[in-house]
Amino acid sequence: MSAATGVDARGGVAVCSRAGCRAEALWQVVWRNPRIHDASRRKIWAACAEHVDYLREYLASRAFPVEVVAMPDAAPDDSANAPPDATVKADS
Ligand SMILES: [Zn+2]
Repeated sequence: MSAATGVDARGGVAVCSRAGCRAEALWQVVWRNPRIHDASRRKIWAACAEHVDYLREYLASRAFPVEVVAMPDAAPDDSANAPPDATVKADS
């Protein structure tokens, strides 16, 4: 029996699960292996922006159910919530 989880949240910053990659993870690749995990089990790999596609396709190619979600602890991106002032035209 192992209580290990897929994500090591030490210090609040997850690091990409890809071997050799030390980049901050922005995504969670949520998957399970139907042959060894029951339907309620989930494994979570952390993934940086560069490797999220690699990890998802690695699992998808094995016909594992896989889902990609944003890392909940990701730092807020200032630009993402900025109002779209630049697109507003003053029409006089
Ligand atoms: Zn990476």
